[in-house]
Amino acid sequence: MKKTLTCIECPLGCEIEVTMNGDEIVSIVGNGCLRGKAYAENEVTCPKRVVTSTVRAENGALVPVKTDAPVKKSEMFEIMQKINAVKVKLPVKIGDILLENISDGANLIATGNEE
Ligand code: SF4
Repeated sequence: MKKTLTCIECPLGCEIEVTMNGDEIVSIVGNGCLRGKAYAENEVTCPKRVVTSTVRAENGALVPVKTDAPVKKSEMFEIMQKINAVKVKLPVKIGDILLENISDGANLIATGNEE
C-alpha cells in the first residue's frame, strides 16, 4: 500500500510517497531531506501535531495557548478535554506554563499576554 503525504516541516512542502507492507515501512521517496523522512515515518506510525487553542481566565477572558511540543493525534480528544478544563489565574505572560505534561511531557503554554 502507498501513502502520499505533503511534508509540513518546511515551506517547500515536498510530496513524499511511503510504501507500506502492513504496518512495516518498505520505502520512503520524494523527501528532500532527512527531516522529511522522519516526518513521514512519524506520520504513518504515530502522527503528532502542536495543538493551538484558548483557555478561560478567571475573569472570563480567553487566553491563547499551544502545546510546547507536538502531541499524538490519537490522544487529541483527551488533550482537548484537559485544555477545556483549564481555568487560569491572571496575569498571564507569553510562555507561562498553564498545564504541565498535558501529554508525553509536552506542556500547555500561553501564547498571549493577559492582565
Ligand atoms: S522533506 Fe525536507 S525539504 Fe522537503 S518539505 Fe520536508 S523538510 Fe522541507
